[in-house]
Amino acid sequence: MSTTTTRQIVKIDEELCTGCGLCVSPCAEGAIQIIDGKAKVIREELCDGAGFCLGVCPTGALTIEEREAPAFDHEAAEKIIAAKLKTYIPQVCHVCGVDEDNAPLLPVRTKGSSTWVCTRCLPALIHG
Ligand code: SF4
Repeated sequence: MSTTTTRQIVKIDEELCTGCGLCVSPCAEGAIQIIDGKAKVIREELCDGAGFCLGVCPTGALTIEEREAPAFDHEAAEKIIAAKLKTYIPQVCHVCGVDEDNAPLLPVRTKGSSTWVCTRCLPALIHG
């Protein structure tokens, strides 16, 4: 039985959500899925409120709010992460092509789209 607590959790504005799905893979715990064309937090106990999904949303539909919610379930999240590791497809840096197994990647917005950049290429994007 889950307990509730006041904590940070992702909030999705369905008016702004286009259902593009970009926010699904940054959520390691699998808390977000696209249902009927809109992103949904399908199990609130799997959303840790870290907000890694926010940076990839092209419409600003994702924010963090603080409210009463089921406590984050570390055990369930770890099981899902372990299962995903068996099937995941690494994302790649749009500049140099290195994948996330070989360099940390960050979500960025560039030229009207959301993509990934590695920490080695990021300084050049910042400083030109
Ligand atoms: S990234 Fe934003 S617009 Fe795309 S599905 Fe997620 S919430 Fe909706």
